[in-house]
Amino acid sequence: MSNARLLCKLLRLKEMKVTWFRFEDRGRELHLGVKPYKNGCRCSECGRRGRIVRRATGERTWKDIAILGLRVILHYCPKEIDCPTHGRIQEEIPWAAVHAQVTYRLEYRVCALSQIMTQKAASAILRMSSSTVSDILHRVITRTRAGHKIRGLVTLGVDEISYCKGRKFATIVYDLDRSCVVWVGKGKGRATIDLFFNEQLSAYQKRQISWASCDMSRAYTEAIKHHCPNATLVIDRFHVVKALNEAVDAVRKEEWRSLEGDERKAIKGLRWLLGMHSRNRTKGHTRMLNKLRSSNRRIHRAWVLKDEFEHFWNYSYVGAARSFLKRWTTTALRSRIPSLRKFVATLKEHQENIISFVERPLTNAVGEGINRIIKIVKNRASGFRTLESFADLIFLTVGDLDIPAQIPSRLRTL
Ligand SMILES: [Zn+2]
Repeated sequence: MSNARLLCKLLRLKEMKVTWFRFEDRGRELHLGVKPYKNGCRCSECGRRGRIVRRATGERTWKDIAILGLRVILHYCPKEIDCPTHGRIQEEIPWAAVHAQVTYRLEYRVCALSQIMTQKAASAILRMSSSTVSDILHRVITRTRAGHKIRGLVTLGVDEISYCKGRKFATIVYDLDRSCVVWVGKGKGRATIDLFFNEQLSAYQKRQISWASCDMSRAYTEAIKHHCPNATLVIDRFHVVKALNEAVDAVRKEEWRSLEGDERKAIKGLRWLLGMHSRNRTKGHTRMLNKLRSSNRRIHRAWVLKDEFEHFWNYSYVGAARSFLKRWTTTALRSRIPSLRKFVATLKEHQENIISFVERPLTNAVGEGINRIIKIVKNRASGFRTLESFADLIFLTVGDLDIPAQIPSRLRTL
């Protein structure tokens, strides 16, 4: 066996022949001259074989996976061919995508590692800077998603998420049936969500959407009503609960500000207790809250109302849920607590879309799996500065397209 063939076997270089090799950088870099084996002279656009026009254009290099700390670089001078359809064009490179500076298998490895670990860890294993890793990732994801179309979207979820340490916002659209992210857009207003409906979906696709879930922001609800004529809108349960919790907490804050001394002490440490679901409370917690009945009636009342509202989510008949809501809002209004009155106003505005939860308990939290992963993604890289890098990792981990699977299977060696 010749040295070149041995190298080919050892490095598992498929569909290519090694023509020469040399070590550089004091033995830390292995440079290989290669050429396509059997599969040369194909058009990079359509894959058809063409006549060679120019034997050798300028030499190009591709970075390959490093082995045992040895960087591997491939060299080849691509030929120019004449394709019946595309004219004069550079031949297809079997081991790398058009214009790519790294091989398919390195791209695959970058994707596979970035899916399961932090970018820092991945770049340490790959012996690359993390900016190179995210650069490669961005190219692969942009390339593989370029021709990708959203398909079969019936149940849609819209949510906003912050990045860049909470300073910037993005809108995320989920396919709730398949539990994946189909779109990520900059900003959180009506213009952003309109962009999704106008650019990503056809009129037919919009009509196919029959369920949608979002928070209570008018930008999203109005956009869904406008674009999806057949969709039943369900306000995401977690956003309703969150709004109620905030209203209760506002009461606590208000009391805290107005009280002094012992009275203030009595409501100390209540913040997390008030926000807790009744199911998670211990007897001790309940005792603490019951004490409020004598020490602070306003907070106690707000808390009782909050607890009662939990029943709403258990209804299975629309009529019953509706009358519950009516009873509850009347009691809440009678409490004369401004923040609760404000909550009631919001509730009334979205009443129908909150009640539709009874018909279908839809929530972006099916999505919770997705949300959780997005949070992990967020924590993995310490603060994304650009939406692109954030969106890249979302698409890679919870996107509707399996990105590593888009790389030719024969080149997916790890
Ligand atoms: Zn062609």
